[in-house]
Amino acid sequence: MKTLQQWQTADAAHHLHPFTNQADINRQGSRVISHAQGAYIFEANGHRLLDGMSGLWCCNLGYSQPRINQAIAAQLEELPYYNTFFQCTHPRATELAQAICNKAPAHLNRVFFTNSGSEANDSVLRFVHRYWDARGKPQRKAIIARENAYHGSTIAGASLGGMGFMHEQFEPLRGIHHIPQPYWFGAKGDNADMDEQDFGLWAANQLENKILALGPDNVAAFFAEPIQGAGGVIIPPDSYWPRIQEICRQYDVLLVVDEVIFGFGRTGEWFASQFYQLEPDFIVFAKGVTNGFVPLGGVLVSDRVSEALLSHTNDLAHGFTYSGHPVACAAALATLDILAEGPISRIKNELSQTMRDYWLPLADHPLVGQARCKGLVGALELVKDKASKQRFAGNGHAGTVCRNMSLQAGLVMRATGDTMIIAPPFILDRNEIKDLTERAWQALDLTQAQLQ
Ligand code: PLP
Repeated sequence: MKTLQQWQTADAAHHLHPFTNQADINRQGSRVISHAQGAYIFEANGHRLLDGMSGLWCCNLGYSQPRINQAIAAQLEELPYYNTFFQCTHPRATELAQAICNKAPAHLNRVFFTNSGSEANDSVLRFVHRYWDARGKPQRKAIIARENAYHGSTIAGASLGGMGFMHEQFEPLRGIHHIPQPYWFGAKGDNADMDEQDFGLWAANQLENKILALGPDNVAAFFAEPIQGAGGVIIPPDSYWPRIQEICRQYDVLLVVDEVIFGFGRTGEWFASQFYQLEPDFIVFAKGVTNGFVPLGGVLVSDRVSEALLSHTNDLAHGFTYSGHPVACAAALATLDILAEGPISRIKNELSQTMRDYWLPLADHPLVGQARCKGLVGALELVKDKASKQRFAGNGHAGTVCRNMSLQAGLVMRATGDTMIIAPPFILDRNEIKDLTERAWQALDLTQAQLQ
């Protein structure tokens, strides 16, 4: 058994980490997570943390789910691998495709499997091109997405995403256009004094403006997360989604809802598309479908799109070696069974109110300019001055301090700039949600002391 220092030395020398500053690793060493139980993770030094981020928004049922483990073990015995190419399937892929369609809005009846959310978004891009070819409008290639969105890390995912610091590190795909996000707290200029619902309409109308600027006959699809996750848990005003849906219908633009974070329950519905009453052409999923235990992603495809795709091309020239991997599908089937037994309806009937009861009062802390939550996600906007919403200098420094103080207070909370975000596991009870917010308050106090 290695010591903590041995792990850190080997890690710093050999492991290239995603989204990590190597200088921090060299200076402080990696945080080594050695084991987990329920909603808690443990560092190799024994420090216990309440995981307020469910891993990376994926271990929605926490870390101790023996039925998922057993399903994985049984599948490894029965059929550890087979592919779904060339007219083949296996029981778990077929069962899972059917089970997911049964949970989805009624007009989505086919599933394409990938290994991740990024691959799923890439796949949608391929299907969108093919769909417009089939409809005899191959010029419809322009894609609209949103600033500060996160749709993954492959070239297509990162191009669809609207994160400037990612775009700086490669050449984004051409033909992907970004419109402003429905971020009311961050509204600037003339919009700063706008009423929330008016702002939501303004943000939605940016889609129409962009469609008109590009020419409606050139626009293929609009990609969006129902609530932007990594971009800072941007919860759109209630006026936003109905107007977006209306615009997509009016201009016949395909609506792609990226539910990699929100699919499988986080809003209290199976899909956020049901929560917001959307009729998407594609729903992208990953993460929570297997409770994060093994990789699996995919795309739900609407009837109108799959009929056009399959009438035009009998053979989709697209797929991954591990599309519908049997072990991942077995894990997902067990996850869906557990979710169906209560955790999702508990969010709808109880936990989203509990979150509001305990999370929203964090707005009373002197550092917090706004506290918001929906279902089981929440955010806090850190400000230097509450009345004017003035931010701290230092471009995310306050957020980083607060994230570190949160770890000290025994809670995993994430920072996007100076926005603190939380996405706790569905298995918490009322007392644990109270405990989570008390730790968040403690982290804010410690942050305030550091920033003074
Ligand atoms: N889409 C959204 C909304 C996400 O939050 C993520 C990951 O965080 C992705 C796509 C990419 O998923 P993956 O990391 O599985 O490729």
